[in-house]
Amino acid sequence: MKYSAEKLFANGLDAQDPLSEYRSQFSIPVKNGKQVVYFMGNSLGLQPKNAKKYVDQELQDWASMGVLGHKEAKNPWVPYHEFLTDSTAEITGSQPSEVVVMNTLTVNLHLLLVSFYRPNSSRYKILMEDNAFPSDRYALESQIKFHGYDPKDALITVKSSTDDACPSTEDILSAIELEKDSLVLIFLGGVHYFSGRVFDMKAITDAGHGVGSAVGFDLAHGTGNILLRLHDWDVDFAAWCSYKYLNGGPGCIAGIFVHEKHHNDQSIPRFSGWWGHDKKTRFDMPSQFKHIPGAEGWQCSNPPILPLASLRASMEIFKSAGMEALRNKSTSLTGYLSFLLSELPLEIITPPSNQKRGCQLSLRMKKDGKSVFNKLTESGFIVDWREPDIIRVAPVPFYNTYHEVWEFAKKLKSLV
Ligand SMILES: *Cc1c(COP(=O)(O)O)cnc(C)c1O
Repeated sequence: MKYSAEKLFANGLDAQDPLSEYRSQFSIPVKNGKQVVYFMGNSLGLQPKNAKKYVDQELQDWASMGVLGHKEAKNPWVPYHEFLTDSTAEITGSQPSEVVVMNTLTVNLHLLLVSFYRPNSSRYKILMEDNAFPSDRYALESQIKFHGYDPKDALITVKSSTDDACPSTEDILSAIELEKDSLVLIFLGGVHYFSGRVFDMKAITDAGHGVGSAVGFDLAHGTGNILLRLHDWDVDFAAWCSYKYLNGGPGCIAGIFVHEKHHNDQSIPRFSGWWGHDKKTRFDMPSQFKHIPGAEGWQCSNPPILPLASLRASMEIFKSAGMEALRNKSTSLTGYLSFLLSELPLEIITPPSNQKRGCQLSLRMKKDGKSVFNKLTESGFIVDWREPDIIRVAPVPFYNTYHEVWEFAKKLKSLV
């Protein structure tokens, strides 16, 4: 698309935006009596106005039915997580049997590592990116130690060959080749939280499988942001949270993917609980565990219904808008932001190609970055600051407009 820096042009794009009606379905925060420009859906997505209705329904049924709500609530609680299965499968490119919503992200990571990090004396190494989200690193290091290995030896952290904030897909592929005899797992953030880079997950999965390694992704910044084809890419497993692009609410229940090909493999170890047990006999309380064949078999506990309800409100909106339409608007919206910022004295460390980025742009500020960030926040532009010099900006196709992008660029220009 050919962009223009004229305000009229931005307003024209909004007028033609087929998704413009969705903004009114979200609560936009207000500061000093004015709606903020909210560019932090990569950290905490905004509240769908329907979330209250969905949560209230369950509070009401709990109040009026007590325990009978498990079966008799308008939306029965025993199978409640299943109401989210189809929409979750759709936005992750999965079969319904391959996904389930449960727990929270880092906890799920541990449960999946129990199943997919199975080191032996010759193959025991995990490959990740050097500048990964700290929780992922803590989880991987602790799993390595749990199995009696030393993270200094067993955790390979790939750095960028060009001094970027994040290695490229090519850097990852070279590192896989280099460590091909000792790798047992490759685990990466599919969309890098700091730089916004999108990895070529299919190429990395193919390369990992080619050397005999399992491949998993943390999709905290991927789910609800970019188009995913987890099943077709043959990814072994993935996990994500739902409070970022999925708008589930703070600390909301998370999701996992386990590829179909693993569902009937009895040799895979897992940490079990009654909610992962065969649904037909679960309430007979048998002493022998028999897992549900599918991602649901990784559940341990009965899930919290109120977060499931708020997440459901958001997933219904995803279903209605469609991930492809969202992604189309997102590439155009972020493309516009990138265009408007191109003359400013700052460096966009996110790759310029649409294939290699999602909503987010990470801006490296040349000087006084922190003070620019503070002034943006004071004026109602909600973005975030990452030490030492990065401002992350994520226009979200559901609720952000071209006009907001234009306003932000104008404000930033006045500050740098
Ligand atoms: C947001 C995020 C997390 C957060 O983990 P929680 O367990 O939900 O607190 C972990 N990893 C990545 C890559 C993230 O972006």
